[in-house]
Amino acid sequence: TELPAGHPLNVDHTGRPIRRRGLMLVLSSPSGAGKSTISRALLADEPDLRLSVSVTTRPKRDGEVNGRDYHFITPERFREMVAGDELLEHARVFDNFYGTPRRQVEAELTAGRDVLFDIDWQGTQQLADKVARDLVRVFILPPSTAELERRLRARAQDPEDVVQRRMAKAADEMSHWAEYDYIVVNTDVTAAIARVRAILTAERLRRDRQVGLADFVNAMRGEE
Ligand code: 5GP
Repeated sequence: TELPAGHPLNVDHTGRPIRRRGLMLVLSSPSGAGKSTISRALLADEPDLRLSVSVTTRPKRDGEVNGRDYHFITPERFREMVAGDELLEHARVFDNFYGTPRRQVEAELTAGRDVLFDIDWQGTQQLADKVARDLVRVFILPPSTAELERRLRARAQDPEDVVQRRMAKAADEMSHWAEYDYIVVNTDVTAAIARVRAILTAERLRRDRQVGLADFVNAMRGEE
């Protein structure tokens, strides 16, 4: 069954949402494990979930759109953002720099929306140090190394040396699985999407995130 569109999950008898702290959902995985398919599906299904669009210094790939997939910026601008404390976290991945602009995340949370992050283990550690309370960390594992390699090659976007480096990097990324709250093995992508959605739903219902509950229950008592 579909969740009601928009708003916190719990509403009172007048339909007014019970106030909830926004959460920050991190999805990490080695590239090729299906993370972008899963995050696209979540964003399409969940109106109150927005992607944190990272900045990166890497070149744009075919099909990527500036401002949607990434904000593609120069190394000079990246350095400036780091110096100006404009990034919530940042890391070097391969030969490129990536970072999460602070402003967009704060704006979404203030507007009552949850934020999805497609970032690596380095960025996840930095967020865990800064915003532990609001963080939900999900790690996507491929069903096998062979399948990961097959998926990496099927994309056929990268030259051989890049594929080899991604395989090495994948092993490195996977070694950080134990730093995450939830692990989903992506054998079947439909099932994986449903599992990540279930995590999001359960985390939204955590008592400590539903900051409007005390008022709601007190109002019910007053009605007795
Ligand atoms: P790609 O270049 O394939 O889009 O991403 C390479 C890796 O960088 C992926 O694991 C992705 O999750 C990670 N990444 C993308 N944006 C960010 C970011 O803002 N911060 C961090 N720490 N990692 C990121």
